[in-house]
Amino acid sequence: MVERKTVANTQVKDDEVERLIMKSIREMRRETDIKDKDRLRKEEMKIRSQIEYENSFAGVFNDLKFFGDTDEDEKRKRIVAETLLKLPYKVRKKTIDEVLFISMSTAGVTFRFDGSVKLRKKDFSQIGEFYQGRIELHFIILNFRRCRKDRKMDVTAHEIAHFILGHHLKKNTNRGIIEREAEDLAEKWGFRRGYKDYNF
Ligand SMILES: [Zn+2]
Repeated sequence: MVERKTVANTQVKDDEVERLIMKSIREMRRETDIKDKDRLRKEEMKIRSQIEYENSFAGVFNDLKFFGDTDEDEKRKRIVAETLLKLPYKVRKKTIDEVLFISMSTAGVTFRFDGSVKLRKKDFSQIGEFYQGRIELHFIILNFRRCRKDRKMDVTAHEIAHFILGHHLKKNTNRGIIEREAEDLAEKWGFRRGYKDYNF
C-alpha cells in the first residue's frame, strides 16, 4: 500500500517531471541564440522553476478547473489537487487540461464557468483572417456526501480513471467491466478499490 500522507505545499519532483525538465532544457538550448553561460543558466532555472511550480500543490491547485466556491468546495478542491499530485505526470496534465471538476454539494447546479483554459496551437485552424478553435471539456461531478473522509481521494482517482479510460465516451458498456477497469487503473496509481464485487 502506498504511503498516504498529505502532500500539501511540498514540491513533487517525480522522475517524470525531472525528465520533462531536462527535455525542455534541451529544446531551449537547441533553439536559443544565447551564448552567454550565465544567461543560459538563468533560462534553465526559469524552465525548471516553472515546471516545478506546475507540478507542486500550489500550481496544481491553481491550474485545475473547478466549480464550487463554498468552504466545503475549497476542501474538495484541495482533495482533487492532492489526488492529482499522486498520479503520473501525463495523467495529471491531461486531467488538468481537459477536465472541469464540479463540486455537487446541493441538489442541482447551473453555473457560469469563469476560469482560464490553456490552448495550444494545434487547437486552432485559420480560416481567412479568422481563427477557429474548439475546446472540449469533460466533467467530473464530485459528490462526497456518502463518502468516508479517508476514501475521498480514492473516489476522486476512480473518477479520473474513468475519464482516462474514456468510459464516458463509450456506448453500451457493461457496468461491471468498466467499474473493474477503473478500479484496476486507480489501484495501479496507488489508490484503494471501492467495490466488493462487479455484479451490477
Ligand atoms: Zn465508477
